[in-house]
Amino acid sequence: MEIIDAHIHSLPCGIMCGGSVDVTYEKVIEGMEQHRIKRGIFVPINDISWQPVDEMNDYMIEVINRNKNIVGFADIDISKIHFYNGIIDLENNIKRLVKLGLKGIKVHPQNLGVNGDDWRLMPIYRLAGELNIPVMIHCHPGSCPGTIDNSNPKYIEKMVRVFHKTKFIISHFGGVLYFDYMPWLNHENVYFECSGILESLKKHYSMEKIRAIFEEIGYEKMFFGSDFPVVDLNAQIEIFKELVPEEFHEDVFSKNILKFGEEFGWWK
Ligand SMILES: [Zn+2]
Repeated sequence: MEIIDAHIHSLPCGIMCGGSVDVTYEKVIEGMEQHRIKRGIFVPINDISWQPVDEMNDYMIEVINRNKNIVGFADIDISKIHFYNGIIDLENNIKRLVKLGLKGIKVHPQNLGVNGDDWRLMPIYRLAGELNIPVMIHCHPGSCPGTIDNSNPKYIEKMVRVFHKTKFIISHFGGVLYFDYMPWLNHENVYFECSGILESLKKHYSMEKIRAIFEEIGYEKMFFGSDFPVVDLNAQIEIFKELVPEEFHEDVFSKNILKFGEEFGWWK
C-alpha cells in the first residue's frame, strides 16, 4: 500500500522546535525513504522570527524542482499587510509563487499571531479560491504562550463557509482539544489530515468516540499526515492504521489525496 504524507516539514534554516529537530532536506528525504514514503506535501511554518519567509519560499521552489514527488506549499508573511498597498503586494507575491510551482498555502494562526478569521487572512482565503489552490490551516491549540484560542474552530468555521469556493485542509484534527468540533468544519470544501496528534488522540479518546467522529466526517475526507520529522513517523502510521477500519486504509493513506490533488495538478 502506498503512503502519501500530507504534512512534512523541511526548512532552509535546517532546524525546528528550538533547534532540537533536524529538518534539512537530506534528513527528511532519508526518513521518508526509510518508511517507503515517496510522495508528500512540504509545509512551511509562518513564523518569521524562526524562518524568514522569502528564504523559505525560495527553498520550497528549489525542492519541488529537484524532487517531483514533493508538493510545496507557500509560506506567508502578514506583518506588512497593513502598509500602503500591503494586501495587493501580498497577493502579487502569492501569484508569483504559484506561477513558480507552489501548489497550496499554509496558514498557521498562532505563528502569525492572529485568529483564524482575522482580516489579514481573508485576502489569502479569497485569492486561494481564485487561483484554485488549497489552504491548509493549522487547527491545534498548542504553540506560543497565550495563543490557545487562535486556531479555535469557531473562527475557522466562519471562514470555510464564507470562502466556500476555496478548498481547505484542516491540520491536526483540531489537536485533540478541538477534535469534537471537527464535524462542524466538515463542509463540502473542507478536508482533514491527522498530523502530530495521533498518540494523544488515542490516549485521551476511546476507539468508539474516535470512530464516531471519523464516520461523521467521512473517511473520504481524510488524509494521512505525520508532521515528520517533529514526530515519530512509524508511530503515526501504525496508530492511524489502528484507528481507521482496514477497508478504508488505501483511501486515507493515498487514494483520497491523489483524487483531491488532481484538481490542483499535484504529482502530474
Ligand atoms: Zn506541522
